[in-house]
Amino acid sequence: MQNNIAHKPRNGWDVYASEDERKKIHELADKYIDFLSSCKTERETVNWVRARLEEAGFAKDVTAPCFFETAKDKTVVMARKGRRSLQHGVRIVGAHADTPRLDFKQHPLYEACDLALAKTHYYGGIRKYQWLSRPLALHGVVVKADGACVEICIGEDPVDPVLVITDLLPHLAYKQNEQKVSDAFEAEKLNVLLGNTPSAKAETGEDKSQPEQKERFKTKILELLYQRYGLIEEDLYSAELQIVPAGQARSAGLDGSLVGGYGQDDRICVFAAFEAFLAETEPEQTQIVIFWDKEEIGSEGATGAKSLFLEYTLKDLVRAWEPDTDPSLVLRQARALSADVHGSIDPDYQDLHDALNSSKLGYGPVFCKFTGHRGKVGSSEATAEYVAWLRNMLNTAGIPWQMAGLGKVDSGGGGTVAKFLAVYGMDIIDFGPGVLGMHSPFEVSSKVDLYATCLAFREFLR
Ligand SMILES: [Zn+2]
Repeated sequence: MQNNIAHKPRNGWDVYASEDERKKIHELADKYIDFLSSCKTERETVNWVRARLEEAGFAKDVTAPCFFETAKDKTVVMARKGRRSLQHGVRIVGAHADTPRLDFKQHPLYEACDLALAKTHYYGGIRKYQWLSRPLALHGVVVKADGACVEICIGEDPVDPVLVITDLLPHLAYKQNEQKVSDAFEAEKLNVLLGNTPSAKAETGEDKSQPEQKERFKTKILELLYQRYGLIEEDLYSAELQIVPAGQARSAGLDGSLVGGYGQDDRICVFAAFEAFLAETEPEQTQIVIFWDKEEIGSEGATGAKSLFLEYTLKDLVRAWEPDTDPSLVLRQARALSADVHGSIDPDYQDLHDALNSSKLGYGPVFCKFTGHRGKVGSSEATAEYVAWLRNMLNTAGIPWQMAGLGKVDSGGGGTVAKFLAVYGMDIIDFGPGVLGMHSPFEVSSKVDLYATCLAFREFLR
């Protein structure tokens, strides 16, 4: 009789215990920390990926065996031709590069109490209080009426000023303390402090007759934007300005075994999938890796997974590489990973998880066979056959992995891009490392999970 009839997930640190492997784990994490620190928006991520693809010889030429295409600079798909025909299926890894944040409203600038401020509208699922009283940075683009694009990044360079949303002092918070969290923190109070100097022009009394001169503090900010970037207020209508946590991602924990930083959902999968894609240069099956936008708000729009961007690109590819092959067959035969993070069990909130079916940091990437909520609603469930094939692949390669669901039944839920690819009939499953403090300004992952996830993606793409 087989002696391993009971299954026990393996801790990655036990699996990768040698000095050499530990060194590789930390080296990969260092690269990842640099990436996380410099890519905080989907556009920055796509720019970073594009630069490395071009270095590696990829081009926007669909007839070439190493090809990439972008959608509006926010979504990027890349492909490398495999030895086998497209009819035998392709391997797809899809992750998302958008992250929860605060977007500037269309009319952001105003002043109150002799302070200049900006109004925001949050993007994705945030816990609003986590964004108060902490250093924030402004990232994004402003496109002028003539089409010129101004890139903005303030608050990351140590000499830069940072921005902040002030919180209420405890002395006056007695009433707020009695409120429900959902009532206590209002979206309309997520206003970012921009300045405290009045316009010099207004100070000297020049143009007192002009009504706009009354807004001396807002005017000062407009003057700064004009001097630094040549921007006028109307330009802010054609802008994508995002407030994100300022500062670098870091090694975390006394033993430095963790990574703490903003945007790990889902840039940890972007990084691991991209590393794997660049490393596996002679694949059996054609490799497709895609980094989507808009996952955090339901995968909508021209750059989200609900769009036809992937389908169009794949059709272009089939036409160029194998004109006799039916593109729908390629989609049907594809095997895909919806690479996304998993909310691992939090030691302080264990009661919200089903311990038996939760993931733990350090135990390798997590398969989530289905997502959804309240009776699997909104989920695309992977087939038993596909799970069997995947676990065999990882077991053969000796890579630790775990199988889990998100939280207790009826305690909440969520969704990913999986269902939008499943509509083609391809095999797909959610797969990625566990994260603590998901969607917070400082999410935590384990370095060994990053390492194991990267190896798993390599195995899948090989
Ligand atoms: Zn995600």
